[in-house]
Amino acid sequence: MYNKDRGYVVSKGEVASSLDRKRINEALDKHLEKSSPSTSRGFNGKDKDRLVVPSTSSGKQAQDPRKNKASEEESDTDSEESDVSGYDGEDTSWISWFCNLRGNEFFCEVDDEYIQDDFNLCGLSNQVPYYDYALDLILDIESSHGDMFTEEQNELVESAAEMLYGLIHVRYILTSKGMAAMLEKFKNYDFGRCPRVYCCGQPCLPVGQSDIPRSSTVKIYCPKCDDIYYPRSKYQGNIDGAYFGTTFPHLFLMTYSHLKPQKQSQRYIPRVFGFKIHKST
Ligand SMILES: [Zn+2]
Repeated sequence: MYNKDRGYVVSKGEVASSLDRKRINEALDKHLEKSSPSTSRGFNGKDKDRLVVPSTSSGKQAQDPRKNKASEEESDTDSEESDVSGYDGEDTSWISWFCNLRGNEFFCEVDDEYIQDDFNLCGLSNQVPYYDYALDLILDIESSHGDMFTEEQNELVESAAEMLYGLIHVRYILTSKGMAAMLEKFKNYDFGRCPRVYCCGQPCLPVGQSDIPRSSTVKIYCPKCDDIYYPRSKYQGNIDGAYFGTTFPHLFLMTYSHLKPQKQSQRYIPRVFGFKIHKST
């Protein structure tokens, strides 16, 4: 289902981490203000394949400078992230492809079963444009009736799928299954470690500062110093905090209370020539 178009999506995904994400989000915002999309189905993988063919559309060419810029930026970033451009997605679901994209390391894979249960998606159709198409994309359901969407609309569907997945994800990680999936990631240090010296490499958990989408980007919470920090990778730093929510790390530590570390009381003391600095009034 996602063979040829994967290449397109992958490269777009990388670019979307910086400038393109902003542009697409702006387009999405504009769209969200308008009325909901038509109910007829027109999204189709083959149509996208056709749009992917390089240098045939001016829109594609216009994106190239940004792409080059993005790949230049890649070279000076964290080594922990794998290169996704060589990805062969023929046997992989959209969900695992998405979770393996650069910057998406904090996301766990949501069970298909959870997504297929309408009860779990309650209220999301009003929040996400192109909801039906986005949902089909996430679940790898190939829609018939192609040739209806423009390239821009296809990008919006991609972006809507990302948003829909995030909004499903924030609910899923509060369920026992989702929390267990996040536990595996926590044990694997997927969310990074606290940068504070006296926290001695304490593994962190992702957290949002708001539950409303597009309010702020995801942060990492350190259970030892009880504070939040920017993620180490700038790609992770572009992810919406609402896809993890304000509740997750705290409910997680209530659930797995044995993982809660002792609070760290040791503090750094500034000194000048070995003497403590007296606080001025
Ligand atoms: Zn800490």
